Amino acid sequence: MGVCSRLFLLIQCVALLAQSACGDSGGICEICGERPPGKMYLMEDRVRGKQVILCERCARLPDTCSVCQIPVFRNYTKLSDGRFLCEYDVKDAVLDQDSALSVYRDAQRDVFSILNGLGVLPDRNISVQLVDQKELSRIFSATPGAHHDLNLQGVTRTRRFSKDSFEHQIFLCLGLTRSRMAAVAAHEYAHTWINENVPRDRVIDGDTVEAFCELTAYELMQQRGDKRELRLIVENAYTRGKIDVLIKATTDYQYHRVAAWMKSGTDETIESHRTERVIALKDAPPPLFGYIPVVHARAPEILRLKGLSGREPRRYALINDITLERGEEAPVKLAEKTLVVRCLDIASNAVILRINGDTNLVRLELDSFPTR
Ligand SMILES: [Zn+2]
Ligand SMILES: [Zn+2]
Repeated sequence: MGVCSRLFLLIQCVALLAQSACGDSGGICEICGERPPGKMYLMEDRVRGKQVILCERCARLPDTCSVCQIPVFRNYTKLSDGRFLCEYDVKDAVLDQDSALSVYRDAQRDVFSILNGLGVLPDRNISVQLVDQKELSRIFSATPGAHHDLNLQGVTRTRRFSKDSFEHQIFLCLGLTRSRMAAVAAHEYAHTWINENVPRDRVIDGDTVEAFCELTAYELMQQRGDKRELRLIVENAYTRGKIDVLIKATTDYQYHRVAAWMKSGTDETIESHRTERVIALKDAPPPLFGYIPVVHARAPEILRLKGLSGREPRRYALINDITLERGEEAPVKLAEKTLVVRCLDIASNAVILRINGDTNLVRLELDSFPTR
């Protein structure tokens, strides 16, 4: 319903445009090839990036191409689920299982290189099936916790048999273009990666999960230099803006940090004004205070422990203007540079820090207990 009314609005808008642009003089309708009396309309064909002139009769045709949204009149293909493809988009559409599998495999191979070094990469425990949209909707509504993807273009179903044993089924929608299907394949593959790598007790907001999957598709399309898919990913409102935030975090801190955050971040989402939280990670439980071999390296003069708060086991250290718990890591901005500071332990009047991953640990005392 939403799509229908939006399309109608779009047609109304372009009608005004057409009136002012070409008036009633009009050209030949590009859909029916005729020149009937009445208004001419302009519609944007976003696939081919051009304007299409159409007559009033064609603008009101009920059936539109599921790829370019332009009304179909002749030489179109009707899919088993009732959708249509125009004569241009049918040429690039994935319409059989073998082609779907080859598009999927190419995408998965490229996503492997994107997720390289980031934990388990599911592979042989994934089955891929091309289904029409009716079947996809049926699978979607029968899958608890499944999500609705970009007007439902893919669904991932994961079954967990034991702690490390999973089986994934990926369903891809019939009739997508090859590049769209590759983007959906990358998105769904990211779901299998999340399902195997993100601990079950880690809470991540739903839009952020979907945005991470979109981000993975975005990385793939960037690797392939596919500008149209990049635009489609940024423009779709599916993740309610979260994709923009994750793209920003990736620009600032790189994709692998965002993926590491998915696995062990301390926050449930990332906000656009605080993308530095992407490097705040939960650590394995730190050793008890006193057992860490502390090397008495001098902390950079301008790194200061300004305060300690909270109660055991949740104590907080205020280091410059960043608050850290045990095991948390965050960038601390200094006048000249930014240090990545990890808090290993909090004592009654001091903290043990690891700075920029250095093996030498730093003990920083409270401001009122200055170190010498
Ligand atoms: Zn089309
Ligand atoms: Zn998804």
